[in-house]
Amino acid sequence: MTDGFTPQPLDREATTYIAGHRGMVGSAIWRAMEGRGHRSLVGAASSDLDLTDRGAVFDFMAQHKPRYVVLAAAKVGGILANNTYPHDFLSKNLQIQVNVMDAALEQGVERLLFLGSSCIYPKLAEQPIHEDSLLTGHLEPTNDAYAIAKIAGILQVQATRRQHGLPWISAMPTNLYGPGDNFSPTGSHVLPALIRRYDEAQRDELDSVTNWGSGTPRREFLHVDDMADACLHLLEHYDGPQQVNVGTGKDATIAEIAGLVAEATGFQGETHWDTSKPDGTPQKLLDVSKLAEAGWTSRIGLREGLAATVEWYREHGDSLREVG
Ligand code: NDP
Repeated sequence: MTDGFTPQPLDREATTYIAGHRGMVGSAIWRAMEGRGHRSLVGAASSDLDLTDRGAVFDFMAQHKPRYVVLAAAKVGGILANNTYPHDFLSKNLQIQVNVMDAALEQGVERLLFLGSSCIYPKLAEQPIHEDSLLTGHLEPTNDAYAIAKIAGILQVQATRRQHGLPWISAMPTNLYGPGDNFSPTGSHVLPALIRRYDEAQRDELDSVTNWGSGTPRREFLHVDDMADACLHLLEHYDGPQQVNVGTGKDATIAEIAGLVAEATGFQGETHWDTSKPDGTPQKLLDVSKLAEAGWTSRIGLREGLAATVEWYREHGDSLREVG
């Protein structure tokens, strides 16, 4: 149904609504678009526009009539939060997505990018994880509610394409890091937690740091500015119903990553591993060949990206979000 649409450079004058523009990903996309001369960016904080309020979302969309929409608003959290509040992760994310996409459909939004997450793939998916493994097995139970909401989002994009012919697309990022991350001790993901721990250890001149697990699981991390660049690339160069994985295509052990964080913070002490604590899945790496076919590969290496993130963390230490 999207026959005849050819991806093309985004119109710098067109109104673009970035839902979630104060979040880590949304703010990076905002910075990237602003840097490329987009003059008509629109966003609203959740305190001004609660995206679970369907009437308010329709009014907002009718008022601004965006030509492009990036859907980077979501209720996001670490394993603990996902496992403790599965109802909220399912219900709020479904509401946000359905409201934004239904309102965008009403306005005939030309290009919409929906952001999901690599947790949509089965727990035991073959590595590296290809887009085709979606819906081929059981999900990781600790974040299945969040994953099902994101899978529903991909399906809504596909259904809108099929039924209404709008060339909307979905992107599934790997683990992200960078400015604007959540550094809270209870709610943060692996990388911000490591940065916080090593930074404190360096400041307090500790002899050693102890991390959970064995350090052997392999993980992939993409800098959020690379992520923003990939999103804009996809909007300008990709059209298709299938979600596109966004990552670096390279992973590293947690021990290697911890070593780079120690280096970036200047921590000189030893690192110990508490092997009585769980390791999680042995490897999580996305197959990024589809993204490469679309003409994009990541540019920011982990060492360089971590050094910049530690610098950002130290500059913004007092004003960091403490989201649980
Ligand atoms: P953040 O938590 O940093 O930002 C989420 C944004 O969503 C916030 O700006 C928040 O607005 C907004 N939001 C949440 N609920 C509502 C609501 N009810 N009404 C209006 N706005 C709301 O998340 P990220 O930027 O990290 O994530 C963005 C997307 O990227 C998500 O879809 C996530 O799944 C995906 N992603 C992120 C990864 C990561 O490692 N961070 C990895 C893979 C995918 P406000 O600030 O105004 O409250």
